[in-house]
Amino acid sequence: MNDTIAAISTPLGVGAISIIRVSGDDAIEIVKKIYKGKDLSKVKSHTINYGHIYEKEKLIDEVLVSVMLKPNTFTKENIVEINSHGGIATTNKILELLLSNGCRLAEPGEFTKRAFLNGRIDLIEAEGVMDLINAKTEKQVELAVNQVNGYTSNLIKELREKLVSMIANINVNIDYPEYDDIKEVTNKDILNKLDEIKSSIKKVLNSSKDNQLINEGIKTAIIGSPNVGKSSILNKLLDEDKAIVTDIPGTTRDIVEGNILINGIMLKIIDTAGIRKTNDYVENIGVEKSLNLINEADLIIYVLNNNEEITEEEKNLYEQIKNKKHLIIINKIDLPKKIDYSSLDKNKIIKISALDDNCIEIIKEKIKELFNLEELNNIDLTYLSNSRSISLLNQSLEKINEIEKSLKNELPIDFIEIDLRSIWNILGEIIGETYKEELLDELFSRFCLGK
Ligand code: GDP
Repeated sequence: MNDTIAAISTPLGVGAISIIRVSGDDAIEIVKKIYKGKDLSKVKSHTINYGHIYEKEKLIDEVLVSVMLKPNTFTKENIVEINSHGGIATTNKILELLLSNGCRLAEPGEFTKRAFLNGRIDLIEAEGVMDLINAKTEKQVELAVNQVNGYTSNLIKELREKLVSMIANINVNIDYPEYDDIKEVTNKDILNKLDEIKSSIKKVLNSSKDNQLINEGIKTAIIGSPNVGKSSILNKLLDEDKAIVTDIPGTTRDIVEGNILINGIMLKIIDTAGIRKTNDYVENIGVEKSLNLINEADLIIYVLNNNEEITEEEKNLYEQIKNKKHLIIINKIDLPKKIDYSSLDKNKIIKISALDDNCIEIIKEKIKELFNLEELNNIDLTYLSNSRSISLLNQSLEKINEIEKSLKNELPIDFIEIDLRSIWNILGEIIGETYKEELLDELFSRFCLGK
């Protein structure tokens, strides 16, 4: 754990400067071996120092070196950052010199992992750092910054403290039942306290739903029979010829994807192979994938052809999606109407021609309406935004519901104590107080090198 790690923290390429970051007990000693300038072990912490990097006697670069002594650093270890001139060759050379003088190349996300393991940040904040790096929209940035600032973490910590005090009270009751001066903990007391915890969790979960939308986008599947115009609609939305448009039924063999922004929210659209029973093997694989996608999608765009009657297959398909969030596009309204859609939900229907450029605005407006995207501008961006934390919160809620049931059935409080502990653990997993090594490896490996 205490080895000293190094990595290039800026994107590799030609730029004005590049930063090579070093963290660990020997950071200063190692950099000193390749640096000429002020004695870095004598300079004050948090200073920037001018000097040169040398490979033996050969000058490599003129640099500025930041020295930050532990514990007031990102990793809580000694950190040295070398600001070099931005060329790839020079930057790589400096990294190479550091590695040959005792540093180990950092794994992706290892600086942040150390910040977490050394107690500088918790898991929610670490995930916030990752979200910030990956943020593509302004809203994602705002959300990530709030997570890095730790508001939600504090709330989760408070809930855990409440649980600890409940557990402690129950234990005192169990261990010293003979003392009269100890207040007896009743089922009703516990129910009341649990109710408070439950409403805090629900509040976080409710606002997190919108946050998840911001962070993860709306997974959208375009489905319908072959030739109704799915690829044409996707192409219009994406404004490029990604899906192949032809008039031979079944040509969208595989799945085509693309993203568009609606009110700052990412719509991740997938065009699926025309769903119909088929003997064609290749097309069959596509059809199977389409059916899986329906299950995963947050929004289904169901396309029908204005110029044809609805088939039995289309009716069956609608049965599969009608309980999911969906919109129905009656396409090809430039052609004579042969379709009868009176049995479909008319609030969900929009009528367009994919050949007409205006169709995009009509589709976007309907999606805004379906997801209340206008209102998203005013939502609280304080809470959680990733499925890992959200699913853990849901687990805690389920556990609380179980406890409530047991309490109402007059189960002895000793049993409840075990369940309260498990909620305490689940909440701990969100902020990383209790964690599994594999989770950390998985999580931090998604970071880029040098972070
Ligand atoms: P998919 O199989 O559902 O993806 O359908 P395509 O997007 O490949 O379209 C099938 C055919 O219908 C192509 O020849 C398109 O040009 C045509 N098409 C798509 N939308 C319209 C429309 O609104 N009006 C007319 N007249 N033709 C359309």
